[in-house]
Amino acid sequence: MTVQPIRLFGDPVLRTPAAPVETFDKELRKLVADLTETMKDAPGSGLAAPQIGVSLRVFTWWVDDELGHLCNPTLDLSEDIQDGDEGCLSIPDLAFDTKRARRVVAKGMDMHGEPVVVEGSDLLARALQHETDHLDGILFIDRLDPELRKEAMKAIRDAEWFGEQPPEVRVSPHTISAKWL
Ligand code: ZN
Repeated sequence: MTVQPIRLFGDPVLRTPAAPVETFDKELRKLVADLTETMKDAPGSGLAAPQIGVSLRVFTWWVDDELGHLCNPTLDLSEDIQDGDEGCLSIPDLAFDTKRARRVVAKGMDMHGEPVVVEGSDLLARALQHETDHLDGILFIDRLDPELRKEAMKAIRDAEWFGEQPPEVRVSPHTISAKWL
């Protein structure tokens, strides 16, 4: 298990819809272990694979001392809405009031390919929605009211970390050189 660097707002991988998990192998189990370790180290209540640069539909959560993970999730949302502060490890130090469904039923698979159903309310429901959004290239600031979103974008542009890391998505294990067209 390895703590991985967390990709920050501005990195294209965070805006790329992730691919479904098709192979439930050792690599996937290592990815879940890395996500779990990185999330606990941060610490955070949830982490999605694109946040560590892997464009696959997998995320982990750590809510009320309970660890979990889910692959290829689909969500059923309650009509009942919750309101409250939400933040993102890819947008450090900033939290904004974000409306979410209060209860969620999430269906998907575990890392062994077995079907699982996860029911959550409040923070777990919020985490399940936030992480599933990550898999679609959606960030929580996209869910804010227009006025608040403007405020959030300004806060991001003013943040010390913003623009520090050059956005990069690796698509090839080869070193980039003129030879590889
Ligand atoms: Zn996030």
